[in-house]
Amino acid sequence: MAADSTYGLLVAGAEGPAAGGESAELLDPSTNRPIARVAVGTADDAARAMEVAQRAFEGSDWAGGDGARRARSLARLARLLDERAEEFARLETENMGKTLRESRIDVGFVVRTLEYVSGLADKLEGTTIPVPGSRLNYTVREALGVTVHIAPWNYPLLLAMRSVAPALAAGNTVVLKPASLTPLTAIRLARLAREAGIPDGVLNVVPGPGGKLGEALVRDRRCRSVSFTGSSEVGRRIAALAAERLIPAALELGGKSPVVVLPDADLDRAARGIALGIFGNAGQMCWAGSRLIVHESVRETLLAKLRAIAEATRLGPGTEEGVEMGPLVSRDQEARVLEYVRSARDDGGRLVTGGAKAGGDRLAEGNFVQPTVVDGLAPDARAAREEIFGPVLSSFAFGEVDEAVRLANATAYGLFAAVWTRDLASAHHVARRLEAGMVVVNEPPLTFPQTPFGGFKESGLGSEQGARGLEGYTRTKNVLLNVALPKKKG
Ligand code: NDP
Repeated sequence: MAADSTYGLLVAGAEGPAAGGESAELLDPSTNRPIARVAVGTADDAARAMEVAQRAFEGSDWAGGDGARRARSLARLARLLDERAEEFARLETENMGKTLRESRIDVGFVVRTLEYVSGLADKLEGTTIPVPGSRLNYTVREALGVTVHIAPWNYPLLLAMRSVAPALAAGNTVVLKPASLTPLTAIRLARLAREAGIPDGVLNVVPGPGGKLGEALVRDRRCRSVSFTGSSEVGRRIAALAAERLIPAALELGGKSPVVVLPDADLDRAARGIALGIFGNAGQMCWAGSRLIVHESVRETLLAKLRAIAEATRLGPGTEEGVEMGPLVSRDQEARVLEYVRSARDDGGRLVTGGAKAGGDRLAEGNFVQPTVVDGLAPDARAAREEIFGPVLSSFAFGEVDEAVRLANATAYGLFAAVWTRDLASAHHVARRLEAGMVVVNEPPLTFPQTPFGGFKESGLGSEQGARGLEGYTRTKNVLLNVALPKKKG
């Protein structure tokens, strides 16, 4: 273990042990050796963090204060993170397993998110509304209060800060529960809050088990909204808890995203983009392009190109420069992915490439799975419908565009879709008919802090990012004033 290997809860600006004194060991997914210990928060810790955040909301000048002050603090936090980007990227890689290149991109995205929301913090404008008579009617956008954020392990810092940053910019105070497997970068970022000028108690991080601590946070009467990213199953649970308390829930859930390849596509570009969209982050992406829907005339050519890319992909510990795919986050996730591959084969799928644990003796201790492509599955097979969350692509052929659209829309999810074609009219036509919150044309999965990110159907509720994302952390108050002058007597 490295010297800086003990992490606590970060509440009221101070880091300390959990109320129950418990801590857990975290493993490097490339070796399954311990890298750090982290405090395991309890329901008591949840209550304390919520109380601290509520006091900070009422008592500090964060919420009620000048938006420009929040803007400066968030811009400073962006700068502090940028200065330490390499340190954060290494920590993310050691904890989660993704390659250093991927972690650097994630940290860069967080820096840009903080910069983006800092620019909006003093621009939360209301409107004036014409009403009859001598009256003035206007709206004010106010912060909600304490917002709770529950983050997953696949982009630990990025997905935490994607909702925390706009909530802070809008003047809320925050309690963040990172995933139990990957809490380190979020805790380390919260350590920088004071230096950035964010008052103590405004940003609190409480690691601990979702079922107990996460639920306690959402149930707490001080919780004014919850933002959750993770599985659809837990998303449903969060939505039910939020409904009981009548608080808003922003849910960013799973996907089984289609990649439609029309016969005129640039197949070399498409193959590279498709590979990035399913083997990137070892396939552990809510918006992984996990279903290839390819025109039958180019199917064999494209599958051969994908196979060549998959077999040339360099696997290894994410910390090694030049490695292109890291391990899966945990042994459990590895077992889950291999089980899906087995079910695909049982259901008649043909392995084009991969399908097994990767790396031989060199990588035996880590959670490495080969980049995998399966062809010939029925669209209703389990592995073709459910989210695998690993580097496994299922391929389906189509003849007519209508069939491609039908196949693309045939799952319960609707997060993301990609279209590959050189024809602009076809691109628009297909994009319009896809039931997905985000569609890209001739691109791998790609998003920016200023563009909305959210899913249709069972992929979620609401959206994060962009100016609207920030508005979601505010409420609208309408004020009506009678400004009639007193009638003159006589
Ligand atoms: P979960 O949905 O269980 O976890 C996501 C977050 O929710 C974690 O912080 C977790 O805490 C927390 N959590 C779990 N249960 C509750 C609860 N009852 N109340 C409040 N918070 C809770 O994902 P898993 O880690 O179990 O991954 C399983 C599968 O989910 C993946 O294989 C993948 O298919 C999908 N997933 C999708 C993601 C996405 O980006 N859409 C991200 C992660 C997973 P803790 O870590 O303590 O369990």
